[in-house]
Amino acid sequence: MVTKKILICGPCAAESAAQMDVIARSMKDVLQGVSAQLDSILRAGLWKPRSQPSSFQGVGAEGLPWLINAADYLGVPAATEVAQVEHLLAAYQAGIRHFWIGARTTSNPFMVEALAGAPIADKQSVTWYVKNPISPDMNLWSGAVERLKGAGYEHICAIHRGFALGEHASGVYRNAPMWSQAIEFKRRYPAIPLLTDASHIAGKADHVSEVAEQAMRMGMNGLMIEVHPDPQIALSDAEQQLTPAQLSDLLQHLAAMDTTAQTAQSAELTALRQQIDETDDELWALLSRRLDIARQIGDYKRRHGLSVLQQARYEEILQRRMAWAKEHGIDPESAKQIMDIIHEQSVLKQL
Ligand code: PEP
Ligand code: MN
Repeated sequence: MVTKKILICGPCAAESAAQMDVIARSMKDVLQGVSAQLDSILRAGLWKPRSQPSSFQGVGAEGLPWLINAADYLGVPAATEVAQVEHLLAAYQAGIRHFWIGARTTSNPFMVEALAGAPIADKQSVTWYVKNPISPDMNLWSGAVERLKGAGYEHICAIHRGFALGEHASGVYRNAPMWSQAIEFKRRYPAIPLLTDASHIAGKADHVSEVAEQAMRMGMNGLMIEVHPDPQIALSDAEQQLTPAQLSDLLQHLAAMDTTAQTAQSAELTALRQQIDETDDELWALLSRRLDIARQIGDYKRRHGLSVLQQARYEEILQRRMAWAKEHGIDPESAKQIMDIIHEQSVLKQL
């Protein structure tokens, strides 16, 4: 049996009672149409963590009834972001039971500690969704999960929303996806459902679909997608929000992909995986041979009083490898990271 995926969708922020009313009405058929495959949850940010004080900061507790009414109309749970204990208590008292911790909050252990320790009467009724921190720091992400677990919460999910890497950010997207971080999270917490926030990774409506598709191919347990009745006039994240019609198209596309993917589960995949395993065996044999040569070089350098680290030589190796990577369609920066690790191991061996 295929377990149901989770879909958290709705506007970046609740802006008015009318906007929440319209979004609920326009998503009703869409969500009902996919209810056999997806457990939907309606999202809307009430307290918005914005970098600039001049940006829209969210409507706060005033929006709680708008969100709750919209979710009731849709027949799905409501979810909102909480960063401070007062947000959590206000939303909990209003009846909300699904809370996400935003990237900026996960980055701050004091804030997570405060949220985890808040006086919530029925912890088993609550589900937490922990977004990855702003930068790729696995310990901050898992630290937030551990704090919630330690406080007695049992229903915990995580959300992969990509990383702000400044000048290293990968081109077209707002956040670098760094799927390796999502894979590492899954390895550490196989039992915790991991969703991908395709909207915040993509940053532009045009790219949301390809990120969502990739997430499904990677076996993620669900998606967070921002949907606004009229994205152009949204008060926050206008560029990345989908219209309800675009959400509908996306879900149909993913559903079609899912069935084809399932029927194609086949000998072909098994054969390809076998080839990967064999290639990995060869790769590791080569790495081990390389280390052995490094050890011999280390012996030579010691006998001739040469220093282990020869920067010019490494620079030459690195430049050659990065140029090679570029020619072969491999990201030179990634090639550099791999080469750095290999070189570090060689140096250690020589020492
Ligand atoms: C959000 O989901 O509205 C949000 C602010 O996301 P993040 O914390 O991922 O930036
Ligand atoms: Mn947003």
